[in-house]
Amino acid sequence: MKSSHVRLAFALATTIAIAASLTAAYAQRDWSKVEIKTIAVAPRIYMLQGAGGDIGLFVGDDGAFLIDDQYAPVSDKIKAAVAAVTPKPIRFVLNTHWHGDHVGGNEAFAGGGAVIVAHDNVRTRMLVGQLNELMKRTVDPAVPAALPVITFTDTVTFHLDGEELFAFHVPPAHTDGDAAVVFRHADVIHTGDLLFNGTYPVLDVPSGGRLSGMIAADDQLLAIAGPSTKIIPGHGNLATPADLRAFRDMLATVRERVTPLVKAGKSADEVIAAAPLADLDGKWGQGFMKAPDFLRAVHMSLMRELGIVAPVAAGSAAVPAASAAAAPTATPSPTTSPTPHP
Ligand SMILES: [Zn+2]
Repeated sequence: MKSSHVRLAFALATTIAIAASLTAAYAQRDWSKVEIKTIAVAPRIYMLQGAGGDIGLFVGDDGAFLIDDQYAPVSDKIKAAVAAVTPKPIRFVLNTHWHGDHVGGNEAFAGGGAVIVAHDNVRTRMLVGQLNELMKRTVDPAVPAALPVITFTDTVTFHLDGEELFAFHVPPAHTDGDAAVVFRHADVIHTGDLLFNGTYPVLDVPSGGRLSGMIAADDQLLAIAGPSTKIIPGHGNLATPADLRAFRDMLATVRERVTPLVKAGKSADEVIAAAPLADLDGKWGQGFMKAPDFLRAVHMSLMRELGIVAPVAAGSAAVPAASAAAAPTATPSPTTSPTPHP
């Protein structure tokens, strides 16, 4: 057997193993236990917490507007939570990025008549799917009914019942398809996963995410926020500008500490062993993302930012069709347990 065949067979076996264990993890989750918590943020604006990313909800006479929709098995619970605050139909769902804990309900809400809107790269990545070597997961291409039907490149504004919902794309940060939403009159921002309030974030480098991009995006959000802006994060509790500032400063500290290690040629394992975030872990490492996994993503990001490793499909939305076949060299060990997204 030629070595390329061996690599391909190994990659295939790995992919199947990862997919199988992820499916098991998904199936094991007891969705019936999930409760949707509705938090009033401002007049007509709510944050819904359940399983997955924090949802933003705007209700007006023109209908309801949802920002992200968590996982498919909790769609009915989300619908019930929306119905508890408005009799109006959900007209739009905006996805802040393509991760499954933010787009999982798309099919159900589209089926209920909502128009799904997202950045161009969200649709492209959902369409193609991905073998993600960092998160050790395979994401299958989405069913057509779950895809955004309106996509935008830079910005889009929704004018609903006297409110303006201004969604804008930022350069590669958490992924390469991130959008944040500003409620211009209510002084509320939904950051998507550009903010994990109080914890280390997921940094999805294989989806085009970049540490420096996260920092730049948070700087952009801080420039927009006023002193009393209410901030709905991608994960965690309702935030203040001070929370966003603290998160941004933590990311900058991480970059400052890890950059010299990467420049010195340290591997991801060596960076983790050096424990450069030891004093930060007590505050930031208590959430879903622990320091070793975060450092692995930071290492992968800085290797690309410093030009040590060529970025994969840089500047392009598409996951190359050949990525599954090209992945063997970077394929994670099949014995490593999968990392579920929050
Ligand atoms: Zn995410």
